[in-house]
Amino acid sequence: MSDTQLSPIATGLAGRCPRCGEGRLFSGFLGVADKCDSCGLDYSFADSGDGPAVLIMFPVGTIVVLLWLITDALFGFPFIVHIALWSLTTIALSIALLRPFKGVMINLQYKAGARPGGGPGDMEG
Ligand SMILES: [Zn+2]
Repeated sequence: MSDTQLSPIATGLAGRCPRCGEGRLFSGFLGVADKCDSCGLDYSFADSGDGPAVLIMFPVGTIVVLLWLITDALFGFPFIVHIALWSLTTIALSIALLRPFKGVMINLQYKAGARPGGGPGDMEG
């Protein structure tokens, strides 16, 4: 399948190669593989930095605070129960969302034209 037909969201969520949609993007939980094991695409362009973590903080923070307020209004849990419950929920949601968000971000980078060896310094020549 041509890379222009692949959705970077779908391939990113699945942790697949942005070019062929078949090969694995990750070599570990969050480690990016060196290249696609299906089409051989060099993943050295892939650098999502802190982007996925930043994008996860906003929805997870919103969800956790809303759930905290709702459950407190409905059930009146003691403060220590809220701390235990919502800190674990925050950690679990963040870990669960990190890989799909990183996959989508790398796939969007490829879709936007990021290629191996590319960078601001390469613009000059
Ligand atoms: Zn591939």
